[in-house]
Amino acid sequence: MKWKNRGSEFDGYWEEIKNIKAVYLFGAGISGKTVYEKYKDKINIKGFIDNDPQKQGGKHCGLNVYSLDEILLDKSEAIITTVSSEHTKKIVNQAEKAKYRIYDMHTFLPVYSLYNYDELVVTSISYLPTTVCNLNCKCCLNFAPYLRNKEFRKIAVLKRDIDLFFSKVDFLLLLHISGGEPFLYPNLIELFEYLKIEHGKKIGRLETTTNGTVIPKDELCEVLAKLGVIVTLDDYRDAIPGQADKFDKIKEKFDEFGIVYKIQKAEQWIDLLVLQGKDMSNEQAQLHFEQCNVPWQEYRNGKLYLCNYSDYASVAGLYQTQTDEYFDFNSEFNKKELMEFRLGYSQKGYVDFCKKCAGYFNNPNVVKAAEQM
Ligand code: SF4
Ligand code: SF4
Repeated sequence: MKWKNRGSEFDGYWEEIKNIKAVYLFGAGISGKTVYEKYKDKINIKGFIDNDPQKQGGKHCGLNVYSLDEILLDKSEAIITTVSSEHTKKIVNQAEKAKYRIYDMHTFLPVYSLYNYDELVVTSISYLPTTVCNLNCKCCLNFAPYLRNKEFRKIAVLKRDIDLFFSKVDFLLLLHISGGEPFLYPNLIELFEYLKIEHGKKIGRLETTTNGTVIPKDELCEVLAKLGVIVTLDDYRDAIPGQADKFDKIKEKFDEFGIVYKIQKAEQWIDLLVLQGKDMSNEQAQLHFEQCNVPWQEYRNGKLYLCNYSDYASVAGLYQTQTDEYFDFNSEFNKKELMEFRLGYSQKGYVDFCKKCAGYFNNPNVVKAAEQM
């Protein structure tokens, strides 16, 4: 979105939500738990809603889990989605059909926190300690096949950047450590311990991801379990059958050490790149950005990038990030401006890479998952 009222873009939204007296959280999962723990003393949370019949009738964080049909909201109550961006649209439709007020947590929580008690909350960032990977996936969203200089970022620089981030941000709901392949990063234990010890009180949830082909050392497993880092274990066994034994071994180790993990098996991936470049006007690029609704922003070298993927493309040498496409934490800024930027506002309302990119959501360029070069 293009800034029209910089620093006040959400004044109207705040007027709309400020009288909400109680909420239900839609999504009785990990994200719902993070939101509950952060906001239980600030917002009257009456319970969880979930579409999963296995969860309905049970408890989550000590609260009842209902189906949408079981609850009745009055005008001063609302539903906050806590599911991933991929599922938000379906849930919003469901609630709107029932004529309930529903808000996406990624907008509601930062606006509520900042306007109500001057707390700058960011719902998520993506943070890469390395671009090194042992695989070479054809349609890697980090553009690994194009990277000429894969690097292990210096731990001292990562710590400095994180300190800078938390000197401005009051709370981060999800810090996602990705890569490259994070398990190859030699200082990963030091990084996790630093995050937890120095900034743990400001981080709701620490997550990382692994491609399922790098067996973590016992020492790393102990730290992941001790610090409660949640790991996404990608299942690429269909695409890379020769590495299947490693996947099984990693899973075994996660179970042995009591690591919380989720297996992610994608049937298909998307290809972002439209290398020829579309003949797109600035207005079309703006619309493309808005429709893309990219959920991730990368924080790197003290800067928050408007789109994760355009910055990955820039690191890979496919593109040059423009100065209005990141938010520089070294500069003085007002909290509302940073919140707006994280929610997709910028000077021109898109990144130039949108003109070369098929988009994150509704991308028709479907490809085989994890196919190797
Ligand atoms: S595993 Fe594949 S998709 Fe993931 S970073 Fe490595 S090359 Fe990219
Ligand atoms: S279209 Fe591509 S470059 Fe533009 S915001 Fe979406 S993912 Fe990023």
